[in-house]
Amino acid sequence: MDHAEFGAWLRETPPDAAISLYLHVPYCRDICWYCGCNTYAARRTEPIATYVETVYAEIDLVADMLGGKRVTEIHWGGGTPNILSPEQFSHLVAKLSERFDLRRLVRHAVEIDPRTFSADMARTLSEAGVNRVSLGVQDLNEHVQRVIGRVQQPAVVQRAVDLLRNHRLMDISIDLMYGLPDQTIGDLRDTIALVAAMKPNRISLFGYAQCPGSRSGKG
Ligand code: SF4
Repeated sequence: MDHAEFGAWLRETPPDAAISLYLHVPYCRDICWYCGCNTYAARRTEPIATYVETVYAEIDLVADMLGGKRVTEIHWGGGTPNILSPEQFSHLVAKLSERFDLRRLVRHAVEIDPRTFSADMARTLSEAGVNRVSLGVQDLNEHVQRVIGRVQQPAVVQRAVDLLRNHRLMDISIDLMYGLPDQTIGDLRDTIALVAAMKPNRISLFGYAQCPGSRSGKG
């Protein structure tokens, strides 16, 4: 589908349609070795700021074609949406609210990386009306984490869960993965037991897929 076709398709959306918006943040601090997502490592803030400016322009483009239709779902994926600063996130939500009708928003979901999640970001998500958060965890055994290039202690995940709950973000999902290199069934059982003790609303279990070009998915 080219640009003209996509624009025509947006313009033909029925006036009473309920719209779902997906915002992709294609940056992470480091790239996990198993990752198959569309993302890049960003140690500096400049590329992220440039990308945010592009998203502002994209919101205007899409809103012009769609009209100010009602949006019932927003999902932020990546990459790592919480690589945005709290200000960048809240300004983008303000922009969405300016260009779309968000008064009947049912679900506002964000994927986060517990390793870089902050109290400021938890407060910002809560103030922005986010009502579902999923945490990328995969496996909590250190020997597996070293092989996949993503080391995060269980305490780091628990801290992120606590920050969310302290800011009234109660709908929490935790993403796990089976079939990782060096991961045994016992490792998976231990991970599930640790995560279950954190009492998330749901656990999503994904199968590992070796993507061409990855060093060792889902974020
Ligand atoms: S797995 Fe998640 S955090 Fe790791 S590089 Fe991929 S998108 Fe980023």
